[in-house]
Amino acid sequence: MISAVCPRCKEPILDEAVLLWNDRHYCRSCVEAISPDLYTFATEGGQLVDLLEPDDISVSQYWRRFQFKVGIAGGLLFLLPLTVMLIRNNAPLEVVIGFQGICLSFVMFYCWWISCGKVKHFRTHLPRKVVLERLHIKVVTPDGEQTSLLTDCQWKPGTSSADEVLFATSLKQGMTIYTPDAVINCGHSSELLKPWCAFFRLVELPVYTPSRFQNFLSLVGGGVAGYLVGLLSGKLYAIELNNPAWEFLLPILGVLDGVCLVGLSIISRKPSSRLADQLLHPALWGAEFFKMGGSLGFFAGFRLGIPSAIISCLICGSLNAIIGGFAAWHFRSQLQLRKKNMVLRAPEKQASKAGYRYEV
Ligand SMILES: [Zn+2]
Repeated sequence: MISAVCPRCKEPILDEAVLLWNDRHYCRSCVEAISPDLYTFATEGGQLVDLLEPDDISVSQYWRRFQFKVGIAGGLLFLLPLTVMLIRNNAPLEVVIGFQGICLSFVMFYCWWISCGKVKHFRTHLPRKVVLERLHIKVVTPDGEQTSLLTDCQWKPGTSSADEVLFATSLKQGMTIYTPDAVINCGHSSELLKPWCAFFRLVELPVYTPSRFQNFLSLVGGGVAGYLVGLLSGKLYAIELNNPAWEFLLPILGVLDGVCLVGLSIISRKPSSRLADQLLHPALWGAEFFKMGGSLGFFAGFRLGIPSAIISCLICGSLNAIIGGFAAWHFRSQLQLRKKNMVLRAPEKQASKAGYRYEV
């Protein structure tokens, strides 16, 4: 039965009503005010559905759009302290350049290998079908079906780096939907992008506006704080261990740690809470921090010989792993606490949202 009142203008529906994908009837003028095409699309039985198939992704795309840049950035980060140390120790220029060439080739080869693995992994989770029907966003993959209530989702026009599989495609990255489970990019064709966006504007689905500038400032703040802590402890270690390398290397580790720690707190505030939960796994961050601390510890001990390098790699790596693992655990428990509070408040919140936007 057609509702007597349009959920948008709250007026009785006098002209032709159209049933949209949130299971509500809207008056023609409201729909056409947002987009005349949306009315035609809906009355002709159009479906808001998007499909990503295994053939849409490739290793070369992923390499070009993502892993190549990671390789260059990671390579430089890795090479910079090394180069400065070699120059400080009066190494000949050809040794410095040769060493850089070998290291960079190794990093790039490693990144290509990662790209192949990633794309293979993405393929096992494709095809991915996203469909909006009866007030629910349904994501169907070979792993199963995830359904989220539309009122629990947010969206924003354009892409999001969180939907990593998109880096492996050459498809148009129309707009991004944030469900509690996932971040999914949709609207791969212009014909579908328009009705997706028009519909979300019509039902006033909240637009996700990450405060990029604020996040950037906090990341810079984290880096500066880490640098200062590293500088102080570096001076202390340099004297205690009689190894000036610490004075130079610990501030670098401090910056990396500081930026990562702030990054973890940013992840814990993402709208896709279940995804953030996976990303904040303490073992994952323990390992990442071990790599950072371990490699810098290795360089610090290197001037005293290989055994000393290995020992300082293990000690510095382990201590740093404890910091990373503990921080991830802390932010993950905060996220879980927030989720628990949300579940308790959910019925009231949902009722008011539904009443405001969707109920007749
Ligand atoms: Zn209306």
